[in-house]
Amino acid sequence: MPARVPLSNAGPAETEILIVGGGLVGMAMAAALGGAGIPVTLVESEKLPDITAETFDGRSSAIAYGSQQVLSGIGAWDYIAAAAEPIRDIRVSDGGWQYREASPFFVHYHFADLNPDTVPGAHGAQPPFGWIIENRAVRVGLLKRLAEIAAVTHLPGTRVREIAFEGSFNVVTLDDGTLIRARLVIGADGRASAVRRMAGITTQELGYKHSAIVCTVTHDRPHDGVAHEHFLPVGPFAMLPMTDDAEGRHRSSIVWTEDPRIIPMLLALSDDELGGEIERRFGPTLGRIRPVGPRFNYPLKMILASTYIREGLALAGDAAHGMHPIAGQGFNMGVRDVAALSEVLVDAWRGGADLGSLAVLEHYARWRRFDNLMMLVVTDGLTRLFSNDIGPIRLARDIGFFLFNKAKPLKRLAMRHAMGIVGTLPRLVRGEKL
Ligand SMILES: Cc1cc2nc3c(=O)[nH]c(=O)nc-3n(C[C@H](O)[C@H](O)[C@H](O)COP(=O)(O)OP(=O)(O)OC[C@H]3O[C@@H](n4cnc5c(N)ncnc54)[C@H](O)[C@@H]3O)c2cc1C
Repeated sequence: MPARVPLSNAGPAETEILIVGGGLVGMAMAAALGGAGIPVTLVESEKLPDITAETFDGRSSAIAYGSQQVLSGIGAWDYIAAAAEPIRDIRVSDGGWQYREASPFFVHYHFADLNPDTVPGAHGAQPPFGWIIENRAVRVGLLKRLAEIAAVTHLPGTRVREIAFEGSFNVVTLDDGTLIRARLVIGADGRASAVRRMAGITTQELGYKHSAIVCTVTHDRPHDGVAHEHFLPVGPFAMLPMTDDAEGRHRSSIVWTEDPRIIPMLLALSDDELGGEIERRFGPTLGRIRPVGPRFNYPLKMILASTYIREGLALAGDAAHGMHPIAGQGFNMGVRDVAALSEVLVDAWRGGADLGSLAVLEHYARWRRFDNLMMLVVTDGLTRLFSNDIGPIRLARDIGFFLFNKAKPLKRLAMRHAMGIVGTLPRLVRGEKL
């Protein structure tokens, strides 16, 4: 492996690693690498109070058990835990809003069906599948953790304008003309990644016929930690259990895929009207449902970068792979990128190797590409299978639900996948130190 030449500290500012994009993945990456003592600069185009505003990101994420292990290992979980609602039960059904009754066949996963002794890092305690947490709360928690790490220089409100990939060092130009030399650039700048474009990395993309409405709702009855996913004719409709609010009202987050042509009309409805539309789709389980706070509309598409690495460059999170939220796995796959890339880089750092060298980065690409590709294929296949109401397909998938529900070993494997504890697990996912 090529040895590392020391930083010169001459000319423009220098850093070992420059991360472009301080979204959820970029911040987690900076906390992992900086926490291990590697000098990291994190550049985020949005200003600081803005990215934690209620109107910035309305999503709540299903954070898998394995991702929680990572957030804990990088020192961020203690700042997030109070906002996290455990998922104890998952119910997936072929719902039938106004067309027909929901299918009697549904898949039911209960957290206690999994033997805790087979879950890495659980130490015999029964872990939930994961947690539902507002993205805003994850952002606040990660920001608090970053503020504690001396090796991280955080530059919010600054855009990366240009990158010259120049052998052993890259020269990064910020919007205000500042130059920073970095041995490795990590592109964590999301689906429309400018880093990916500047590096000349192409993508494969597939659009969907629907977009997602996202908002928080309150409801009369408690959710009991159950995450629901109904497959409606247009696409999936998810009701995800959140913590109660300060006034003790029961809350859930909805991800409702709909025909983009009618979304503006739905978003303009009064709270009572929109609540009624949600109840018609979800059914009576939670009693009266009403939206609270801002409503959001997210266009959906699948995107895959042709490569994750170049000399001096690695892509992570949505910049490398963006997927449909049907299985709530986009951020989770990004967290696994963080766990794998930080492990590879920290080991290389301790061994005195050049962090930008292909010999180092190839370990990361080999480790993560197949796992991400499989998840993209599965989420895309599920989306297409369940986003239609053709009679024979509906019958086939209902029979599939029925058989799957009876097949205990297959169900247990699916649960372990959903928890992010299948495959060659990085140390952070196993609950170990980096
Ligand atoms: C409706 C919906 C529901 C979802 N639910 C789940 C779920 O339940 N569970 C789950 O695991 N995943 C879920 N996801 C996916 C998840 O939200 C994404 O995978 C995740 O947010 C990606 O994070 P990221 O940091 O890679 O990218 P982003 O969040 O896009 O962050 C990129 C950052 O880079 C910054 N940036 C961009 N360009 C530049 C530049 N030139 N210079 C500096 N900064 C720049 C941006 O400002 C941004 O902050 C969902 C997605 C959608 C759409």
